[in-house]
Amino acid sequence: MAAPISPDSALALEQHHTARNYAPLPVVIHEGEGAWVTDTSGRRYFDCLAGYSALNFGHRHPELIRAATEQLARITLTSRAFHHDQLGAFCAELAELAGMEAVLPMNTGAEAVESAIKVARKWGYEVKGVPENQATIVVADNNFHGRTTSIISFSGDKDATTGFGPYTPGFRSVPFGDADALRAAVDATTVAVLIEPVQGEAGVIVPPAGYLSTVRALCSERDVLFIADEIQSGLARTGRTFACDHENVRPDLLLLGKALGGGILPVSAVVSSRAVLGVLRPGQHGSTFGGNPLAAAVGRAVIRLLRDGDLQQRAHDLGADMARQLNALTSHGVTAVRTRGLWAGVDIAPSVATGRQVCERLMQRGVLAKETHGATIRLAPPIVAEPADLTWAIRQLEAVLHEGTDR
Ligand code: PLP
Repeated sequence: MAAPISPDSALALEQHHTARNYAPLPVVIHEGEGAWVTDTSGRRYFDCLAGYSALNFGHRHPELIRAATEQLARITLTSRAFHHDQLGAFCAELAELAGMEAVLPMNTGAEAVESAIKVARKWGYEVKGVPENQATIVVADNNFHGRTTSIISFSGDKDATTGFGPYTPGFRSVPFGDADALRAAVDATTVAVLIEPVQGEAGVIVPPAGYLSTVRALCSERDVLFIADEIQSGLARTGRTFACDHENVRPDLLLLGKALGGGILPVSAVVSSRAVLGVLRPGQHGSTFGGNPLAAAVGRAVIRLLRDGDLQQRAHDLGADMARQLNALTSHGVTAVRTRGLWAGVDIAPSVATGRQVCERLMQRGVLAKETHGATIRLAPPIVAEPADLTWAIRQLEAVLHEGTDR
């Protein structure tokens, strides 16, 4: 057992030895279970961030821990130089969950996005017949797809991009939710449209009804691949297995990550057809850890959790409750509430507090949440949360907003 570390020394060590690419709230978490975490002093907090939706099933879900433990006792890594007995089943089961055919397993979300970009470009050259090195991919303004050099090349966020050039060419950005702008941006060089069906980091932005179906139709019409980044929106968060299900839309490439690893380890995937993924041949793409036995076993357990639809229904029901309670706060310093399932973006009136201040005050009251873009806080508790706990957490938000208005 590693020796316990006091909260002060944990913070001091992090301060001195960890790259400062994050600005965490000053809480030092020691353990977690379900929707709750405990800090090093024994204080409990309701987790309203759920690891940016990597913890959709809560901390240490017993079935996921069981699957991981069983696999830990057998074998954890083989590399893809050899076969192992979990990979085929994981890919078959994930493809079935998505109503698709084949899976390219990776690790982080950004890797899944990078992989999809490579697949789409290669498909464009080999299948669509786009002239070499001319492929374009249309993306949406205010997107968030990860942090690699190519991905930030089509981000509009100055913090994410400044100082990291030169940027990868081949991307065009159009306003999210604007089907006409998208149509105008697609030309003969376009190999793919890459969007989040709900923009998470942008503040839980839900596109107008019909947008996803229009994107689907446009992509089919113009021989363009529809890539849906469901790394944050997928796997029950929005009350359906995938956010695209809200419009009964199936993309050509579905990108999954975060919750696919059950909050235990990074597991991501590109799910598609055999024909599209078939453009990759040995040596053209890969990953030492992608599809490893431990990841595949945990991924299979995640898929089992989603099979009967109960968690999706629970996210829907809890989400409806959450939306109702949050909407009642609009007279208390909240300027807008956007929700999809158990996922909310809450805009705080600048006269009341910044998003960061709200999160700090929530933390003092035992609720962990994270702001995005200054004035928005995002609520995405684990789907296993108890309704009464969620209501309590929203009451804490209400109290924080009252404090803000009284100041
Ligand atoms: N795509 C979306 C929609 C995301 O929300 C994220 C992370 O927040 C990513 C991709 C990147 O995932 P990762 O941080 O695992 O690389």
